[in-house]
Amino acid sequence: MTIRLYDTMRRAKVDFVPADPARVTMYVCGPTVYGRAHIGNARPAVVFDVLARLLRHTYGPDAVVYARNITDIDDKIIAAAAAEGVDPKVITDRFEAHYLADMGALGVQPPTLAPHATDYVAERVDAAGRVTGMIPMIADLVAKGAAYAAQGHVLFDVAAPGDYGRLSRRPLDEMIAGARVEVAPYKRNPADFVLWKPSTADQPGWESPWGRGRPGWHIECSAMIAAELGETIDIHGGGLDLIFPHHENELAQSACAHGGAPLARVWLHNGFLSMGGGDKMSKSLGNVVGVDDLLAAGWSGDVIRLALLSAHYRQPLVWSEALLEQSKARLNRWKRAVDDVTLEPLDDLRFAATLWDDLNTPHALSIVSELVSSSPAAAKGALRLLGFYLPAHFDVSLTEEVTVSDQANAIVCNPLVDAAIAARTAARARRDFAESDRIRDELAGQGIVLEDGPGGTTWRRG
Ligand SMILES: [Zn+2]
Repeated sequence: MTIRLYDTMRRAKVDFVPADPARVTMYVCGPTVYGRAHIGNARPAVVFDVLARLLRHTYGPDAVVYARNITDIDDKIIAAAAAEGVDPKVITDRFEAHYLADMGALGVQPPTLAPHATDYVAERVDAAGRVTGMIPMIADLVAKGAAYAAQGHVLFDVAAPGDYGRLSRRPLDEMIAGARVEVAPYKRNPADFVLWKPSTADQPGWESPWGRGRPGWHIECSAMIAAELGETIDIHGGGLDLIFPHHENELAQSACAHGGAPLARVWLHNGFLSMGGGDKMSKSLGNVVGVDDLLAAGWSGDVIRLALLSAHYRQPLVWSEALLEQSKARLNRWKRAVDDVTLEPLDDLRFAATLWDDLNTPHALSIVSELVSSSPAAAKGALRLLGFYLPAHFDVSLTEEVTVSDQANAIVCNPLVDAAIAARTAARARRDFAESDRIRDELAGQGIVLEDGPGGTTWRRG
């Protein structure tokens, strides 16, 4: 069996063939940390968490490098910091912690790598002598004629790659004709985008060949991918709204910097989440539902997770109270059936094949419904693979489907413990002390002792 995934670039479902099955690389564009995550933000986090779990199940727990970045330099962050009169780091630290706690409550494991954009602005030299970083990458693009400096800015020349627009399938001349963005005087072409821009004295900035400034958003991901994962990764993911311009720009600049090497073998995009009326959730419409709001309203992270996985990831998902109610009833029924069952390694091939077929979670969940009555142990294994919170979920002796060494144990289990702690923190925040005690007791049963202190909760093996 081969995993098949829908590649946005080819507009087709393709066999997924990683360059190196011992090191499968996936990068998903992460949050810009200046506000709380809403349920629309949670969808890619949960979808790609399931994919990462499936890849680990398929290729081995240590064979997957999943990077999800933190964008911690951005004009909205700077504005939020100015509004509060604090350093931008106060804002980014606060909302990154919120993000991790909120996603942890939904059963999202921390990724293997969480690169922070600000760590990749200046030049970096790795052990092999490879130079990476945004400033060297921009300088390289300028040297290759794919970018140009003008009035303290550096712009990417969209005419340089020769095939700009191929991911979103927008012809360049249409983009130019339709460019409604204000045309800055320093742009040669209205579709050219900013790689670098000047910072005033009170804005965060880095010294560069073009003066003190800061990077544009698109170059961040290209530089972090090059530094941490290499020139071509196996999977690049994100929400549908990132196809243009963000991913189009990432792939154009990366290809120009790397002699035409493609940025990703497969491009995956999740569909939009809309609110009951069919409107896309947006601040301007006032229909934004925060993950913390849902948790505070008493919905458990597992119920929210199930609701998010109830539609195929590429399809639009209409969010509603009714969906949450249905998901809660379904999950309660399943949990009652599997709670006392001993977890067994998942060997239901039909279930795995369904996920291998472009991550068909609605069908996988219907198989769980059948397994709950015919084979509860298999149902439990299936739910666990999908990342649902189950008692055995935090069993440190039973890690992802295989017996592992202590070292792998540390890698695989620590995120599970961290996720459990995040779920408990979220439970405490909504004053659900029964739930927080239950999680604490379960961890204690696995020999994990929690200690609550002023800096948060830490753990040790008891
Ligand atoms: Zn990105």
